[in-house]
Amino acid sequence: MGKCSVCGAKAVIRIPYARINLCEKHFVEYYERRIERTIVRYGLISKGMRIVVAISGGKDSASLAYVLSKIADKYDLKLLILHIDLGINNYSTKAREVVEEFSKLIKVPAAIISVKDVLSLGIPELAKLSRRPTCSVCGLVKRYIMNAFAIEVRADAVCTGHNMDDIMVNILKEFLNQNFEGMVKLVPKTLSQNGIAVGRIRPLYETTEREDLAYALINNLPFLKVTCPYMNIGGIDTDLKRYLHHLDSKYSGIRISFIRRFVSNVEKYWKHIANEGEVNKCKYCGLISQGDTCSFCNLTKRVLGEPAGPKVREYIRSYLRDHMLSYLNDDLGSD
Ligand code: SF4
Ligand code: ZN
Ligand code: ZN
Repeated sequence: MGKCSVCGAKAVIRIPYARINLCEKHFVEYYERRIERTIVRYGLISKGMRIVVAISGGKDSASLAYVLSKIADKYDLKLLILHIDLGINNYSTKAREVVEEFSKLIKVPAAIISVKDVLSLGIPELAKLSRRPTCSVCGLVKRYIMNAFAIEVRADAVCTGHNMDDIMVNILKEFLNQNFEGMVKLVPKTLSQNGIAVGRIRPLYETTEREDLAYALINNLPFLKVTCPYMNIGGIDTDLKRYLHHLDSKYSGIRISFIRRFVSNVEKYWKHIANEGEVNKCKYCGLISQGDTCSFCNLTKRVLGEPAGPKVREYIRSYLRDHMLSYLNDDLGSD
């Protein structure tokens, strides 16, 4: 690996696109600076924001939350961790333990919402009953709970740990499927929509999976060392990731140039989307929906016999009343 390009000490990581090697100390500084620059470049955070940080238990969201907790005072941020317990046997039990340990470490309270507690069944059972792929049901449920939770705590943004590799793979997948509506949502920041949806921010937009892992290891952060049993290791995601790594090693910096060009061109793509700006309120739960019923209420109505959106919202309200009101220090749930 050679020597650190800054101080000459033993290097622990090479940053190919910047053509530098870094020691532990200088990598930590580089990584934190990079996240702050991403925040500034894309205007992700403004002073005094209330941010829900969605944490899965993995290395990416752990590194992200750790950095956010370090800069919280500087930006006067109110952070709140959200972990969704998916009800996937041992995997979910371990994830929950890791998140609880992590929350204590960074002194940010964690809300743990269990899918099984709310719906009386976990993701695998829900997927089986719906006859849809597990990851597709899981994604839908997670998106719904994240948004519903953020609405109830009146958050300004939901922050997720998607890194540059994840984003690029998703952009390419949407492009291959010619799903431009899905593609244009893969930006560093989406906006909130008046009481029905809370915007997303992705501060890891310009960091790689490898950098997130190195940061978590160097700082000894608790994170899950096992993968979800439903992860499709041999699927298109891993193939695309591998291919992108290969490209980057051959044409240094190609990934970062691509992602930045994508962001600067995304408005042009928006213009070609027919139903741009068309958002409705779900008639059952009152949250964002494309038609008159949101995808979550649709799915649960079909599988469980009743739309579960209102139940989820009520569950979150009572969870907040029982666990978090003093931290949030306001009158949530009064309307
Ligand atoms: Fe959910 Fe699939 Fe990810 Fe497992 S691999 S957490 S089922 S999206
Ligand atoms: Zn150094
Ligand atoms: Zn709904």
